[in-house]
Amino acid sequence: MPLNPSLQNQPVEPVVIPLAQHGLQPRQFSPNALKIVERLQSLGFEACIVGGSVRDLLLGKQPKDFDVATNATPEEIRNAFKNARLIGRRFRLAHVRFGREIIEVATYRGESVEGEAETDSGLAVREMAQGRLVRDNIYGTEAEDAKRRDFTINALMYDPANETIRDYVGGYEDLKNHRLELIGDPVTRYTEDPVRLLRAIRFMAKLDLSLAEETAAPIRRMADRLQDIPPARLFDEILKLFLGGHAWETYRALVEFDLWDQLFPSLFSDPNTPPPLVEQGLKNTDSRVGEGQPVTPGFLFAVFLWARVQVRSEILTGKGYPPVNALGQAADEVLSAQARTVAIHRRYSSMAREIWCMQPRFMKKNRRRAERMLGERRFRAAYDFLLLRVCEEPDLAPVADWWTQIQEEVPAHPAPRSQPTEKRRRPRRRRRSNQAPNQPRR
Ligand code: ATP
Ligand code: MG
Repeated sequence: MPLNPSLQNQPVEPVVIPLAQHGLQPRQFSPNALKIVERLQSLGFEACIVGGSVRDLLLGKQPKDFDVATNATPEEIRNAFKNARLIGRRFRLAHVRFGREIIEVATYRGESVEGEAETDSGLAVREMAQGRLVRDNIYGTEAEDAKRRDFTINALMYDPANETIRDYVGGYEDLKNHRLELIGDPVTRYTEDPVRLLRAIRFMAKLDLSLAEETAAPIRRMADRLQDIPPARLFDEILKLFLGGHAWETYRALVEFDLWDQLFPSLFSDPNTPPPLVEQGLKNTDSRVGEGQPVTPGFLFAVFLWARVQVRSEILTGKGYPPVNALGQAADEVLSAQARTVAIHRRYSSMAREIWCMQPRFMKKNRRRAERMLGERRFRAAYDFLLLRVCEEPDLAPVADWWTQIQEEVPAHPAPRSQPTEKRRRPRRRRRSNQAPNQPRR
């Protein structure tokens, strides 16, 4: 695919922003990322720190992770660092590991290619596995690499050697003006990768930016392109959308731009006024993220899908199912229907199911049974969910109080929290550093 016509006319020379203007200090960057850039440069390669970290630092926020871009090929990167590992099949990039921190080092890419998912965070393999037709990768220059990125503010390149930022796309100005703008022609860029529709909303809500008119204009009419995105990739995006500390604003923006219905088709009769439990659940999630407390996707899906589970469960009860079976059956049906759009990992769907299925058990205020329930794995999550239900069903307040009370009376039981943490049940996966708070905590 050729470069967007609007890009071809742009000068290749970047605007260079000196230290005196941008004010970023080397100590604000990961020392490991700086080390990688220095080493590559000392070997005669070009290298810089790029993407979300430069953007976040300029906005006065703490970056989640640091990415490096270079003209060294993946093999050259691997030869330069003994702690480097190549990942991705179509577009290979290197992960360089320093203890818990992993720095992603990518070779400059040229023209925009379909399925950008490959670029970042190892999504490539999944895209390949799902049989999407993908083109061979094309390496490029630094300028081309800047232009194939999504938003202007995500394409700033910091060079520690002279402490300057190189800007090929006007991203620095946009950042100063709190403006979120796609690079190139928006329709083309959304067509190449419809996940950019969601990324536009995510960055707007998370970074409190205003969306440039041209970037906003095609979103509604292109929303249904999300149907082409594999459910597994949508699941990853949903976690980023709702566990990044701005879930409520993000929800509202998704609804405003008709994207919510693409992710959760006809879940609420009017998404503009979601059930109070959903609004409160998202706001609670944001407070927890803000306080650095863990949040889990299982709880989030329990919140989103609860209304539908209740409706379905009542229908089944009407057909003669015993209430407990009806709830379990409704849970299974709702979760598997949702999985057609968004692949919810099994451990999260079973968590949501357990949270729901514990709800009727709270109605039985029997002390001996209650004490046993306190020790159950999902007790906390289910109890927190009960507290949340009170905002829709005030009649449940005495029940919730009874359960709060009993936890205070049973001394061995630690104080309740408003959302659960889970014990680690699997060995830790290799993961890029500092991914919290966007990533689920296990
Ligand atoms: P966050 O802080 O949420 O991780 P980020 O900007 O670092 O934000 P990533 O998904 O980690 O986002 O991607 C890193 C960089 O890769 C982006 O800043 C952007 O330059 C580029 N990028 C990521 N996804 C795309 C995409 N779909 N299309 C084009 N460029 C992308
Ligand atoms: Mg990132």
